[in-house]
Amino acid sequence: MNKTGKVYLVGAGPGDPGLITVRGKSLLEKAEVVVYDYLANSKLLSYVPDDAELLYVGKIGGAKCSHTQEEINALLVEKVAQGKMVVRLKGGDPFIFGRGGEELEVMYEKGLPFEVVPGITSASAAATYAGIPITHRDHTATVAFLTGHEDPSKEHSNINWEKLATGAGTLVVYMGIKNLPIIVEKLLAFGRPAETPVAVVRWASTPQQKSVTGTLQNIAQVVKDTGITAPALIVIGDVVSLRNKLDWFEKRPLFHKRILVTRTREQASSLVLGLEERGASCLECSTINIQPLEDYKEFDGELERLEEYHWVLFTSINGIKYFFERLHAKGMDARDLKGPAFGCVGKATADALFQYGISADLIPSTFTGEGLAKSLLDQGVEGRNILIPRAKEGQEYLPETLRGAGAQVVVVPVYQNIPEDSQAETVRKELGENGIDMVTFTSSSTVSNFIAMLKVESKEELQQLLAGVKIAAIGPITAKTVVDSGLTVDVEAEEHSVDGLIDVIAHYWE
Ligand code: SAH
Repeated sequence: MNKTGKVYLVGAGPGDPGLITVRGKSLLEKAEVVVYDYLANSKLLSYVPDDAELLYVGKIGGAKCSHTQEEINALLVEKVAQGKMVVRLKGGDPFIFGRGGEELEVMYEKGLPFEVVPGITSASAAATYAGIPITHRDHTATVAFLTGHEDPSKEHSNINWEKLATGAGTLVVYMGIKNLPIIVEKLLAFGRPAETPVAVVRWASTPQQKSVTGTLQNIAQVVKDTGITAPALIVIGDVVSLRNKLDWFEKRPLFHKRILVTRTREQASSLVLGLEERGASCLECSTINIQPLEDYKEFDGELERLEEYHWVLFTSINGIKYFFERLHAKGMDARDLKGPAFGCVGKATADALFQYGISADLIPSTFTGEGLAKSLLDQGVEGRNILIPRAKEGQEYLPETLRGAGAQVVVVPVYQNIPEDSQAETVRKELGENGIDMVTFTSSSTVSNFIAMLKVESKEELQQLLAGVKIAAIGPITAKTVVDSGLTVDVEAEEHSVDGLIDVIAHYWE
């Protein structure tokens, strides 16, 4: 028997992918087919299983349809009839100016099953993210949502402008930018005071959000002058004045800053999350692809004589990850690490080590290779055997300093950095258009790989490409690599960690 299909009409929320419901997300995670359009944030598609079918039926401004509503309806019917679990993902809430009702009526007529998951509608988001409570005890107890898509001057309007003009305290108009002058005219003609405050919010809840304010009298001119276009919402009413106090989203320190984050492909993007939390829009650029070694003979030899070592030092999370992957591959585990003490370059590294059941014996107070070297020298390293498992390509400072103090140091690779340039074109393009405000570097290798990726012929060409772009470095070694490449460091983290870097960047732009 055929499995029964079903369509789930899911509200994607207004723009920020974090604003989908928990239920909506869990349906995406199980979808076999996803039918989505222009206003649904494409980041949500990362929840969808790899083998699911993704169908874009985008509509821009209703007019330039790539698919007619009839075609979309037919597509949904076809997929559900095939027994598929279909998620129809729609911007905002599917039942508010989303034609969701029409799509489901067709399902009803064909006797096919469906469910609906509401979403945060853009009216709610635009007001919230512009700092406007759409109702407020001191201002109004009523709010009306309306579409401005319909030409208000047409003879038989579906909207009773006369009643609406003064009938609801707050008016929120969807799809109204084009007709704004006529909408304003109608409201004024039917008695709404000219000094009523108005806000227009474009791309609400996203890093591109832009809001302008005015009064009924001048808002059409303000929108014209500032060049605001769809998708935008118009919020009309006394509550708009509360934005003066409550505007929280656009006031975040990194709002409207575009930051290029260079990183390794595998690294969790905690830096990106932290910067976005403070309002930045990030372009993630992986310049290094971290890979296991082809050959672990050398490392295996060290594992066998591990009890001869007094110290094992980790200078990166990847070092730990590949150390334990190989250990486990050899049928060993944490119990085989009884002999040596363990040192880590910083707190994040120590936390990663703890995940494997080992608590670090030494973490320096400054989270750098120098800091680690200093802490060990303070303990005395003469005659000590020290193993440093790390990348094939790494800094020599730590081993050399320890050797200088009389230690026997063995540096053994456990992984390798492979340069990656898949995003070179996007990065060059955004840099060329002066679209980037800042670039962050979290290690010397991100600096050199980034520069290699750009394929510049000279220092001058590099300087030209990065003219006006600020540079942030996680610590002194990374900063030195930046300077040696002919660039200038504008921001350097005080605490040499991702959190330290986020703090100092936010502070810099504040
Ligand atoms: N179902 C959607 C509305 C679709 S109609 C919802 O519930 O939000 C499309 C209109 O919604 C756009 O023309 C614009 O007026 C508004 N809109 C959608 N997303 C928006 C956003 N992020 N910022 C501002 N307006 C938005």
